[in-house]
Amino acid sequence: MTIVQVALDVPLARTFDYLASDATSGDLGRLVLVPFGPNRRVGIIVGLAHASEVEPERLRPVVRIVRSRPPLPAHILDLCLFCSRYYHHPLGEVLLGAIPTALRRTQGTALSTPVVFRLTAAGAAQAPEGLPRASVARRALLDRLRAAGALADHDIRGAGARRALRSLVAAGWVSSSDQPAHEPGREAPASGAQPGPTLTTGQAAAVDTVLAALGSFQTILLQGITGSGKTEVYLRILEAVLAGGGQALLLVPEINLTPQLEAQLAERFGAGRLVTLHSALAEGERLVRWDRAAAGQVGIVAGTRLAVFTPLPRLAAVIVDEEHDASYKQQEGLRYHARDLAVFLGRQRGVPVILGSATPSLESFRQAEAGRYRRLTLDTRASGRPPAVRIVDVHGVNLDNGLSPVLLQALADNLARAEQSLVFLNRRGFAPTLLCPACGWVAPCQRCSARLTVHAPGRRLRCHLCGHHEAVPRVCPACGSQDLRALGEGTQRLEQVLAARLPAARVARIDRDATRRRGAFRALRERIDANQLDVLVGTQMLAKGHDFPNLTLVCVLGADLGLMAADFRAEERLFALLLQVAGRAGRGDRPGQVLVQTAFPAHPLFAALQAQDYDGFARGQLTVRQASGFPPFLYQALLRAEAAEEHAVFDFLREAARCTGPLPEDIVMYDPVPANPARVAGRWRGQLLLQSTARPPLHRLLDAWLPRLPEQRVHWSIDVDPLEV
Ligand code: ADP
Ligand code: ZN
Ligand code: ZN
Repeated sequence: MTIVQVALDVPLARTFDYLASDATSGDLGRLVLVPFGPNRRVGIIVGLAHASEVEPERLRPVVRIVRSRPPLPAHILDLCLFCSRYYHHPLGEVLLGAIPTALRRTQGTALSTPVVFRLTAAGAAQAPEGLPRASVARRALLDRLRAAGALADHDIRGAGARRALRSLVAAGWVSSSDQPAHEPGREAPASGAQPGPTLTTGQAAAVDTVLAALGSFQTILLQGITGSGKTEVYLRILEAVLAGGGQALLLVPEINLTPQLEAQLAERFGAGRLVTLHSALAEGERLVRWDRAAAGQVGIVAGTRLAVFTPLPRLAAVIVDEEHDASYKQQEGLRYHARDLAVFLGRQRGVPVILGSATPSLESFRQAEAGRYRRLTLDTRASGRPPAVRIVDVHGVNLDNGLSPVLLQALADNLARAEQSLVFLNRRGFAPTLLCPACGWVAPCQRCSARLTVHAPGRRLRCHLCGHHEAVPRVCPACGSQDLRALGEGTQRLEQVLAARLPAARVARIDRDATRRRGAFRALRERIDANQLDVLVGTQMLAKGHDFPNLTLVCVLGADLGLMAADFRAEERLFALLLQVAGRAGRGDRPGQVLVQTAFPAHPLFAALQAQDYDGFARGQLTVRQASGFPPFLYQALLRAEAAEEHAVFDFLREAARCTGPLPEDIVMYDPVPANPARVAGRWRGQLLLQSTARPPLHRLLDAWLPRLPEQRVHWSIDVDPLEV
């Protein structure tokens, strides 16, 4: 009796046994269609056994093992197994979440068995001239098979071709099989490949070090200031990997996987040698690209966090661009961190992992300080100089809609020089608050613990948490006063004010609202590049990765908002963001200038920012974190819960806190507290934090504890290494 152990996409930490008399170890990692309750489901075979704990008469046979597709390779099974254990998430959900959605459908092309035709040895030996002249169709088909290696059933259309096929099969010249045309190791030839610029000394040294590291595992932190040309270093690594016949994985943050990056890669290496993978792809397209990567047909896979799960048989290097970026952490379901998985992957496959950033996460920075990661620095710009940063003290200064006279003057001067400026404010909308001065009423979201933001177009109030929107009321709903005020600044207000104060300037706003329409961002980008805009007002959308050669002045508003945040990572995030924004200035020939407005100019963060001294800042932060007991010196796990009723959330969390069993000495558990925000879209949210001086005891505790959690009507999840606490 052969039993297959099947992982299914269900929220249970177990596999399911099915009978499959013909299963062999070659089926490990294969998709399998199985009955599940009254339905069928697609699962993945993760084990074989000869006995089961299920009574034999209750065991059901599989519907079908999908042998028309290659199995998931062992290294992806291992990666998912690690992921399941480390993040304490059911293996089935991890595995089925790691493969393209198209493969999870119980119906459809991926699971129907495509028949594939190939030449047999006899067929290959056959000279076309050996065929009678009359059989043109047979000759044509032989030629096609010879050229393509294999043809799928649906590639052979038309009655004539089908007849020819039947006779060739009958003659033993062509064989049919249910194996698709996965030809490992065949890669499209480089076409249109362009050489790169001459490397700077720093770039050359970095490239040399990485190339020397190829062939074994090592984590390398490439810490390069903005504009130092990290991308060029990646390109050279990719080039070397391709030349050696290997494959490379390039992970980029959500926001950086732009058509520009794709174009840059395609221009350098030829479009046939790379695929990009991200969640916005159509299902079928994602599957096709994934298959090409898995079959070794492309050398470069560039993608967002989910690309870390792509099977790459000849993996030779992993690069994580902007490794500090929060979008690498999935914030729902399986809360994995793609950078951390990338490091696991590098170790598992024996290949180097390159983590690049101007502002490394303190986690990675500390590893480099401790010598566990090798640090490479690029401290000069590839072209031009770093911008001059000036802190503008606005304490007690009369601001014009948030703008100080110094900033307005600098913008006017820059306009007079016909140079581009960026005004950065990380808050979209017109104003963050609608206030009734008569009674103090503030427009709230009825479904969230949040205020509604005033949006100018259509005079709407919008909730940035749940998406709810409504008209701006004419009178105060609490006291009837007609004098309602939009308080504070968002990017929409700034856009209006700047257009009024700088009438000669062409002003444009670039934030999520302004770029919602397809193609809108690209259109704005083209106007920026063509010098058709003078002043850009933007959120963090503009902060990262973009290269605007004509931009020479960056003005930062709202920095103090980041200083007030309660999260212990707030300063790290703020500093990284400010340095990234500042890095947009002066990337062309002309020097750049950065003005940062604050009412707290004495805050140490600003001194470090002015000096553009990330190392100094990071070391200072690490000292504080160590002294006050925060990551990366301690390890955290957060139990999150949410429900429609507030008491249900806290009953659950209190009950959960009681059933941990005795806590080992190294672990501290905090009281359940409301999450921030405490309510979103009508659901209350709470959390319970565990903190440990080492990882192993924390994971042992989670292993023992999670199965014992009370069964209550809340939605809960566990977040290992949470980014937001
Ligand atoms: P980073 O990602 O480190 O902020 P980029 O990779 O965006 O920097 O590079 C900044 C600019 O410098 C880009 O316009 C890039 O084309 C250019 N650049 C990079 N390397 C070189 C080089 N060796 N010579 C000339 N220009 C370079
Ligand atoms: Zn809301
Ligand atoms: Zn009122």
